[in-house]
Amino acid sequence: LIQLHGVTKNFALPDGSPYPVLQDVSLSIAAGQIVGLIGRSGAGKSTLLRCLNLLERPDRGSVQVNGQELTRLPAAQLRRAREQIGMMFQHYNLLHNLNVYDNVAFPLRLHERLNPPRLAARVSECLDIVGLSARAGSYPAQLSGGQKQRVAIARALASRPEVLLCDEPTSALDADTTRSILATLRNINQTLGVTIVIVSHELAALSQLCHRIVVMDEGRIAEQFDPADTARVRHTALGRELAFYRS
Ligand code: ATP
Ligand code: MG
Repeated sequence: LIQLHGVTKNFALPDGSPYPVLQDVSLSIAAGQIVGLIGRSGAGKSTLLRCLNLLERPDRGSVQVNGQELTRLPAAQLRRAREQIGMMFQHYNLLHNLNVYDNVAFPLRLHERLNPPRLAARVSECLDIVGLSARAGSYPAQLSGGQKQRVAIARALASRPEVLLCDEPTSALDADTTRSILATLRNINQTLGVTIVIVSHELAALSQLCHRIVVMDEGRIAEQFDPADTARVRHTALGRELAFYRS
């Protein structure tokens, strides 16, 4: 479903010299997988995630989603391709002057011409999935962190994406809320078949959720492993690196 090949990205340092943030990253993600991205702060996780929908444009390399080379699509087609890729963020990024319903409806009103009953049906379907149907009229300020993140999930699902990109979706939440959000993501993966790429610092939580964990270090993929293979996790060089997350 997703294929990155030789993705390289430099940012300019204040003196103008290039600073490599992603170096020759190649990664392949099959439809239906849940893939976790983990690594030190500054390793390039968010940048990599943002390259998957071209919110960040790589300097070199290819980004293919569903066989489409995103880096070569004209703007209108890129917009359409992006509707297949939902995204959610650490700080929810909800619109504070809109209630829950209108937050979820927002991308639909922007990108899709649904008639009012179909729009309403789509919004309530998404609120159902995240268990927030009763709060459609609430404003973000009236919700807990976990509820806000659920609204963000519902909004990301509104366009019925094939892929959901999640950048530290639970880092502002307590352990119980984190578990329930991750359970919701797993449910979305299992019932809707949505492919999920999730960045997190919580190795234990990721291990429960993901089919594969990708470790990033200094702009490169340092290692990938199946989280069920705990012996491997403990005994590689990265086991030491990962111990950092367990402490
Ligand atoms: P964290 O765990 O702290 O979120 P990360 O792995 O997500 O870290 P990125 O946000 O991808 O890391 O950033 C990787 C590097 O790129 C960092 O050194 C950062 O300072 C730099 N960087 C990110 N965005 C920009 C930008 N727009 N301009 C310049 N440098 C940037
Ligand atoms: Mg980040």
